[in-house]
Order: sequence, then structure tokens, then C-alpha cells
Amino acid sequence: MTKILVIEDEEPIRENILELLAAEDFEAAGAENGLVGVSIAREILPDLIICDVMMPDLDGYGVLTALRQDPVTAAIPFIFLTAKAERADLRQAMESGADDYVTKPCTPTELLKAIAARLKRQTNITKPYTQALRQAEERLNHLLHYDSVTNLPNRLLLRERFAQIISDRQENSVALLFLGLDRFSRITDSLRNQDSDRLIKQIAERISETLSMQDTVARLNADQFVVILATLGQRQTVASVAHSILLYLNEPFNLDCGQFFVTASIGIAFYPSEGENIENLMKRAAAAMFSTQKLGGNNYQFYTGNIDVNSAEALVLETSLRRAVERNEFHVYYQPLVELSSGNIVGAEALVRWLSPTRGMVSPAEFIPLAEETGLIVPIGEWVLQTACTQTKIWQDAGFSFSRISVNLSARQFSQPNLSQKIVQILENINLHPSALELELTESSLVENADGAIATLNELKKLGIHIAIDDFGTGYASLSYLKQFPFDTLKIDRSFVHNVTSDSQNTAIMNAVIQLAHNLNLKVTAEGVETEAELNFLCEQQCDTMQGYFFSRPIPAAEFEKLLISNKRLAGRSQSLSP
Ligand code: C2E
Ligand code: CA
Ligand code: CA
Repeated sequence: MTKILVIEDEEPIRENILELLAAEDFEAAGAENGLVGVSIAREILPDLIICDVMMPDLDGYGVLTALRQDPVTAAIPFIFLTAKAERADLRQAMESGADDYVTKPCTPTELLKAIAARLKRQTNITKPYTQALRQAEERLNHLLHYDSVTNLPNRLLLRERFAQIISDRQENSVALLFLGLDRFSRITDSLRNQDSDRLIKQIAERISETLSMQDTVARLNADQFVVILATLGQRQTVASVAHSILLYLNEPFNLDCGQFFVTASIGIAFYPSEGENIENLMKRAAAAMFSTQKLGGNNYQFYTGNIDVNSAEALVLETSLRRAVERNEFHVYYQPLVELSSGNIVGAEALVRWLSPTRGMVSPAEFIPLAEETGLIVPIGEWVLQTACTQTKIWQDAGFSFSRISVNLSARQFSQPNLSQKIVQILENINLHPSALELELTESSLVENADGAIATLNELKKLGIHIAIDDFGTGYASLSYLKQFPFDTLKIDRSFVHNVTSDSQNTAIMNAVIQLAHNLNLKVTAEGVETEAELNFLCEQQCDTMQGYFFSRPIPAAEFEKLLISNKRLAGRSQSLSP
């Protein structure tokens, strides 16, 4: 049914129109003032809005401006109801971007005619467009959720399926089987790409054929699969499934180029007793799988407490990480963000480095997860924020056209209750304008408590801080889910940028992501740009900014300053100055 929102402060008029619309079989909603109107519009996304001009607090122009600024509501047809038919008034109404106006008092026929005209026009304009977008979004979702070789769910979809199975389950436990192909690279190394794809496909088919419809099998990477048995919780039954999979895989595989023998190892762990979430469950099942492979493979094993998941090494790392916080062994490196249209450095991403006296330079990929687990990320992250903002202020004061610093915010930091006050405090102390800061968040920070996250993000945005969604494509939310969060920038994960010109799946993903993001009024940053070919592709696709080794690695502040001083640009862009 067509939804129409009526924003009008005079109750009799509002009620009249609502009645009229209901009688015409529209789904009609009313709002008694501009503020309520804006919030209802965002909530119900009506097909058309009828709005009074003169209202206390937020008048009709204010409502229109607010809605046009929000990509989600920007395109909703908007008809003004204006009491005074003075020309100046009407002109202002139309100039402010309304689609039409009706003067009060009006007859029902006049109003309905205006509505019908608007709706018809809107359908003609948006139908092909909406359809194309929907197709792009569907294609993207498929690409992001399925493995392109086997068409099995990938890691992302696996998570979703797992969440579904857990919420549907009764008292039974759920078994997760982690399957690794034994010494598989020895086989594939001798094969051409197409042949190893064919082999993998046949392997995937055999695994699927052993299972029932309700079970899930996903491909994690080249030689690893995960199976979730939806209904079976008893060890005996699970063992027999594992046994059948192994037996079936033992039969030879026939390809045009020869016959191949494959064996696999399976590790098994149970929800909830051996893991409350899929990460822990996979970790344990994988540990059991590796332990099986060490014993010769072609077998299965249940996870037991004797199998080592986190080695003693992690404990040592944690101790030295704690010490590192006390001794301040961290540094911030800066990686330039380059605007593709101008070739100019417009900002930088701050990336933490740990220079350990015993281990040397430790990669954040190694210690951030641990810092996150132990809570040490909170003081570390705060220090990074403080340091990076201070540095930005210095560069701005020195007159460099350096507009923004991007700082990563971990899930743990993001869920701190007084986050925005803390950030405000830091910015005020440094006297840095909030618009010079962009916070990068990953999906995992947002999905656990979406409502809380939206509220926090809105708070930060109100201050003028920019928000980016980081590593897009590696999480498990679809772009349509992410629409509800108020982002400014979408950063496409480097796994999609890599080989974007030769890997057709990545080409399709990049293409769809950039199109959809622009449609949501988001800027797009591509990370991990390493080659000129990748860069050219991004320019063609009208990606907004890039970062990557092609332009510069992350570097210490002093070196970054040299880049600024030399006015280094991407060569060949509009102001073609070579570096
Ligand atoms: P990220 O946020 O996705 O950061 C981008 C990573 O890509 C950085 O890795 C960067 O060095 C790397 N990179 C940039 N260009 C290229 C390229 O052309 N090719 C390749 N192969 N890699 C490139 P880095 O510095 O090792 O950081 C890893 C991750 O650690 C970051 O990923 C981020 O998630 C996290 N991290 C780093 N600093 C912080 C921090 O201060 N706070 C938090 N919470 N996380 C941080
Ligand atoms: Ca980042
Ligand atoms: Ca990233």
C-alpha cells in the first residue's frame, strides 16, 4: 500500500486529510509538528510527504532540508501545503526543493490530483533506477556471501547460518565440524588453476551429498571447510557423519588431467559446551583438526581440553603487552589518504606500531586482537587518538592543507559508556576541530547492539566528527543493513582491491560497492592499492580516495611531514605534478 505522511500542526486540517487519504486506500500517518514529522519519515520511509509550511519550532522548510540531507529520505516526493498563496511564498517553497505545492484551503480533488501526479512521476523516475540498484545489491550480497568456486556459503554466511541455527535450537547441542584437506597444496601445486577449481568443486559436492538439507557446509579458504549439523547433537551420530564424509572423499576423483586421491581430517566441537560463539567453536574444532593431521590425517577427532588452542606464547605476549603500555613502547605511523580527483594528500590514517625492546617491531595484526581481549586496547587506543590528533593540529597550524586524520576505534573502545565525552575532552584540550577527525569502525563494533551503536554514532556526528566503516566486505552485514548507521565514508577492504583488474569477482564487487555507496551519499576509500592498474580501475569507477603502498606505506610523522612539504601528489591526476 502507498504510504503518505501528513505533517501539519493544525489538528482539524491534519485529521481531515488523513481521513481523506484513508478513504482513498492510502496508508496514512500524521505528525503534529516538524520534528515529529522528520523522525516518523525516517522510521516509516513514506512514498510521499505532505507538509505544512508554517509550523512552530521546525517549519516546513526545515523539515524539507533535514529530509533532503539524509540519503535515506532525500528522494521522497514532497508536497507543501501553504496557507498564503502569495507568490513569494510559493517561490520559496519550490526553490527549497519541494516537488509541488497545494494552497490551503483546497478541495479533496485538488489534493488527490497533486498526490496522483507526484506518485506517477516518482514511479517513472525511480523504477528503473531502483530495480538496477536492487539487482546490484543482490549481486553484491551474493558475491560477498558465497565462495565463487564451489558456490558454497563462505565464512560470512556461515556466521549468519550459525546464528540462525542457535536461535532455532531447542535444548540440543550443535556440532561444528572443521574439515581440512590433508597436504592439499601438494596436489594443487601440480595442477592448472581450472583443474584445481574443478577438483575443489567435486570435493565440495561430495561433502554436501553426505549431509542432510538442514545442515550447512561452508568453504573457509583453499583447503578448509566447516560443517554445522543442525539437528544432531549426539556424539555417536556426529561421529558417523564425519566417518561417512571421510570415506566418500577417499574414493578417487577423476578429472580430464588424471585421477587424484584426497584425504581429509576433521575436528569436532559442540555448542554450547565447547564454545559460546562461533569463533571459539571454530578455534577448538580447528585445533582438533590440526591435531588429527599431526597424527597422520584421514581421520576425525573430538575436541578435548587436552588439545592446545592458545599456546603459552599468547600468555607471554600478554605480559609484555601490559609492560609496553606502562613503558609507552608505542608509536603512531601515518599512511596518506589521497583524493583521486586531485591527486592530493587530504588526510592520513593513524596506525599504531609497537616497538618492543625484545621482539622488535610487532605488527598490530598480532597484538590488537590480544589487546582487545584483555581490555588493554582502551588505554592504547586513547593514546593513539591523543597522539594523532595532536600531530594533526601541528600540521594544520603549519599551514598544510591536511584536512582529516582517521583513527581506528576498536569494538571495546566503542562500547565504553563515556566515549563521546572522552573524545570531546581530547579535542578541546588540543583545540582541534571535530571535523578534522574521522573514526574508523568495523562492523563487529556495530552489530552486537545496533540501537546503542546508532545512538553513539549520532552523538559523535552531531559533534561534527566523521564516521567511516572500515574493512567493508569482510563483516557479515549487508549494505542494506548498514544503511541505518550514519556513516560518511565506506572503506573497502584491501582483499577486494587486490587484483581488482584480473579477478572478475573482485571487479564485480568493487563496481557494485562503489555504485551503492555513492547512492547512499557515502564517500568511498579503497585501501591497499598496490599497483597502477588497481589505481586506474578505481579512478574509472570514481572511487573518492585511496591509500596503499602504491602511494606510500604507513610512515613516522617526520617522514610524513616531508611528503607534505614536498607536496607529493599522485602523478597523472588533474594537476599533473610528478612527486
Ligand atoms: P586497517 O585499519 O585495515 O589498516 C590498514 C592496514 O593495511 C594497515 O596494516 C596498513 O599498513 C595496511 N596497508 C596499507 N596499504 C597497504 C597496501 O598497499 N598493501 C598491503 N598489503 N597492506 C596495506 P597495519 O598497520 O598492520 O594494521 C593492521 C590493523 O590493525 C589495522 O587494519 C587496524 O585494524 C588495526 N590497527 C592499527 N592501528 C590501530 C589502532 O590505533 N587502534 C585500533 N583499534 N586498531 C588499530
Ligand atoms: Ca582502518
Ligand atoms: Ca581497513
